[in-house]
Amino acid sequence: MTTPFPTATILGYPRIGAHRETKKALEAFWKGSANREDLDSALAQVQKANLTRLQELGLKEDYAIPASFSHYDQVLDAVRLFTAVPSRFASSLGAEGLLSLEGYFDLARGTAEQPALELTKWFDTNYHYLVPELSETTEFRLNTAGLFAQLDIADEAGVKLRPQVVGPLTFLLLAKAADDAAEGFTPISRLADLLEEYESLLAALAERGFAWLQLDEPALVTDAALAASGLDEAGLAELVASTYRRLSAVEKRPALLVTSPYGDLGANLPALAESGIEALHVDAVSAHYGSRLAEIFDGAHESRPALVLGAVNGRNIWRADLAAALKALDGAGQVAAIATSTSLQHVPHTLTGEDHLHEGLRNWLAFADEKVAEVLTLAETLRNGAASISAEVEAATVALAERERARGVHVPEIRDRVAAATAQDAAFERASAQVRQAAQKSLNLPELPTTTIGSFPQTPEIRKQRAAYRAGAISQAEFEEFLRAEIASVIRLQEEIGLDVLVHGEAERNDMVQYFAENFDGFDTTVNGWVQSYGSRCTRPSILWGDVKRSGEGLAGEAFTVPWISYAASLTEKHVKGMLTGPVTILAWSFVRDDIPRADTAYQVALALADEIADLEAAGIRIIQVDEPALRELLPLRAADQAAYLDWSVGSFRLATSQVADSTQIHTHLCYSEFNEIFASIDGLNADVTSIEAARSRLELLADLPSSFDRDLGPGVWDIHSPRVPSVDEISELIAAAREGVRQGHLWINPDCGLKTRGYAETRASLENLVAATELARSAQ
Ligand code: GLN
Ligand code: ZN
Repeated sequence: MTTPFPTATILGYPRIGAHRETKKALEAFWKGSANREDLDSALAQVQKANLTRLQELGLKEDYAIPASFSHYDQVLDAVRLFTAVPSRFASSLGAEGLLSLEGYFDLARGTAEQPALELTKWFDTNYHYLVPELSETTEFRLNTAGLFAQLDIADEAGVKLRPQVVGPLTFLLLAKAADDAAEGFTPISRLADLLEEYESLLAALAERGFAWLQLDEPALVTDAALAASGLDEAGLAELVASTYRRLSAVEKRPALLVTSPYGDLGANLPALAESGIEALHVDAVSAHYGSRLAEIFDGAHESRPALVLGAVNGRNIWRADLAAALKALDGAGQVAAIATSTSLQHVPHTLTGEDHLHEGLRNWLAFADEKVAEVLTLAETLRNGAASISAEVEAATVALAERERARGVHVPEIRDRVAAATAQDAAFERASAQVRQAAQKSLNLPELPTTTIGSFPQTPEIRKQRAAYRAGAISQAEFEEFLRAEIASVIRLQEEIGLDVLVHGEAERNDMVQYFAENFDGFDTTVNGWVQSYGSRCTRPSILWGDVKRSGEGLAGEAFTVPWISYAASLTEKHVKGMLTGPVTILAWSFVRDDIPRADTAYQVALALADEIADLEAAGIRIIQVDEPALRELLPLRAADQAAYLDWSVGSFRLATSQVADSTQIHTHLCYSEFNEIFASIDGLNADVTSIEAARSRLELLADLPSSFDRDLGPGVWDIHSPRVPSVDEISELIAAAREGVRQGHLWINPDCGLKTRGYAETRASLENLVAATELARSAQ
């Protein structure tokens, strides 16, 4: 183990391709318009382009670049690497009992017989991973094919890549018990067996001459790891120490870098430091280690791992305050290498090409490539001292000072309005749920009302027309005419299918957050700032850089959703839901300014939404949905920080929605499946109806619904993530399960969210089955 760790590194790089080549190649392959050879060559090209780019930027040392490319998801990569395949996917295994790339896609996307693995948020980010399903009989078997293919591509390009794999503890702590697991089985109980495969992996990498391996252990910065392991803090730290002592004891192996992005290792910090690993990465951005690092890495202990300091924020897009980073470096003790705090998979590739961003703004930003440059700048101080980067430090300081003074960053009227509103309790309160339920009887909804979550398929035609409008090929009037026709056809379709509460379909929205960003002051959008959400799905977060209100004259600005919703409502006798994105989600799915507390920004957004809600109500809209699918994403990973977060996040939703009449029904939609963790805040949102994503986890989450919950609930009964059309029987089963879990008279029937990603054929067929199943349920009273 003589190869030193590189002085500058990143924890991972975007894999979607600078122009989303990965997405395009995968989707062409899945559609059958490209074969396996086409796919392999397109993806090899993406990987080579990334390597070339990173080397040009200056990541030239051996092992400075991690093998962070993935065909879908890094957790699924580990499933394939260790053949941790649930028995329900046994037929996806190849003849040798291993998972091919095609089999890997089966687990990711589902097959005709089997729904895909469950998709869940990755820590407090907007990335989603696939949840491994394990049981006591899962037969782990090392299969290096996927990993080695990636390493081979780098070899060809002459780059010594650092193999990167999800660590054993994180893998097991994020896994769930398979359906056929014994009662009480916990994935972590398979640790000893899994470690044998990691030992074989170490041997296989050593055999190929790799001197370093990166094992990602972000689960160790969360309190969820305690629940998943059933251990207390000290017990978990002991497990961490013994796990890595065991891996360190492997005779022929690469040196081990363990990474801990997204938070504070707590008691796992000393445990890892003493375990015999060669390098330890800490996230110096999300965690405040203070003197704890110096105490451990003060140079006196030669057997301690090298400290890889995650000093450059890997997940926001703001230019680093290098002066502050230098100060942090100073206090950290002996630093061996500078790194990003997290993988750069959470930020877009590069600022190059974003020339339309308003003057100044571009100069305040750093995307992945610019962050690599910042890492290299800071690493320079390890070799030549702080003075060697004084020009770069000065430039960053000047840019940040300009940002502080720039127009729109601090708008006194907006600040005053937020201060006045948040000072009164009444701004957050509505009448009791019972009073509202009585007032809402006048909506005349049937039992088990059916609805959808808002969007309808974003067809190629819609995208084509939007592109034509953007390019100036059609006028605004022509585009709006097209959108009205689209809305009319979506309304007609829903009437034909027989849904009860209709939506306008969101055809005018490119994206549920960007659309709001485009109609609010204080935001900007990028042209190519894509980040991976899951698999081939990418999002383009907007940049929230200033104080927020609706665009247009005055503090309240102008209504922008009302014309579309009113038009839709004019076409039908049924209720059409007003459709808004909530304040927390707008924050969570944007890149948010880091110069004022998030709570303040959330309240600004909430008041802008309250203005829109008031206008919808005035236009006669009686049901208004405020989506908060991301409520849980920002939930702090440590329990001690959660109360403060829930206070402002739930508070901002209430600030947005509490000024309506009792007879106006407020809906919300949340997209996650760990209901128990956040039930109290769902209750706190004080919405009349909450729809949640549930089909993929087969409504298991309802088991955690407290009997005191007296609002309406719509657990999704069609998993929209795959093109499969669920049968009436299948939906009926889920409805029956939902009826067990939800109080009588409070159940809504709806699919999961995400209709915009589906085609019309499966949308119509599935919704028809959903309505048929609902009618059966109604008559089976
Ligand atoms: N109304 C949005 C839609 O249906 C909600 C999306 C979401 O929650 N992710 O697309
Ligand atoms: Zn959702």
